[in-house]
Amino acid sequence: MGLEYRNVTKQFLTNDGTVLTAVNQVSFHIAEGEFVSVVGPSGCGKSTILSMTAGLYQPTTGEVLLNGELVTAPNSKVGFMLQKDLLLPWRNIITNIEFGLEARGVSKAERRERALSELKHCHLAGFENHYPYQLSGGMRQRAALARTLAIDPAIVLLDEPFSALDAQTKMLLQNSFASTIKETAKTTLLITHDLSEAVLMSDRILVLSERPGTVIAEIKVDLPHRERPLERRKLAEVNDYAAELFQLLKLEEKAA
Ligand code: ADP
Ligand code: MG
Repeated sequence: MGLEYRNVTKQFLTNDGTVLTAVNQVSFHIAEGEFVSVVGPSGCGKSTILSMTAGLYQPTTGEVLLNGELVTAPNSKVGFMLQKDLLLPWRNIITNIEFGLEARGVSKAERRERALSELKHCHLAGFENHYPYQLSGGMRQRAALARTLAIDPAIVLLDEPFSALDAQTKMLLQNSFASTIKETAKTTLLITHDLSEAVLMSDRILVLSERPGTVIAEIKVDLPHRERPLERRKLAEVNDYAAELFQLLKLEEKAA
């Protein structure tokens, strides 16, 4: 069933009392197990779309449906991972991964079992007793993914998870996230401003306009190796797709 947006508009009341339309009449459908990226200019409403999917905000008009059910509040069907890992510094990795399960009242034994399994999935076996400060930035992001997956969500939301990493770590993480997500067969929505990353990781890409964000194009990425971006990167077509996205976005250099 996946995720469906039906004519979703989101308006905010700003501090000076004016109405700001962040997202305008957005409709799309993401099939179960599909990996879709959203690209668009800064401030066009990408994070707002994730927040509405997570039930943190309600649309002003329109509907967000997850597996056919209206999203009306935060719920355990949605795993949300941000750019910052938000690991708790006083907890070791395994108890960080267990955190979301504790909040849901899962028994101690089951928590440990699920956390260990996700740790393995995310290539962090052996690091369960380390503390966040003992891990590299890339490993911390993998731990954050493990924590997101541990609640077994129906959909995984990723908001620019690699944007704070150096170029090489980013390549490694794209690869490791892609293989983990393919294994778990999770429906995934990735927000990124990195057009190549969108091409490397996705089945499909939604292109948003400037604010108020609306879907101006949908690109199906017809390339193999979604589970291995490092492999997909070798294909010349990757650049063609990225160039097409660039053109659609009509990106321009702007004065500060
Ligand atoms: P993006 O992630 O694409 O950069 P956002 O979704 O964060 O953009 O924001 C879209 C627009 O909505 C921005 O102009 C932002 O300032 C505004 N906005 C986001 N959240 C709020 C809020 N809670 N209250 C008021 N304005 C908001
Ligand atoms: Mg954002």
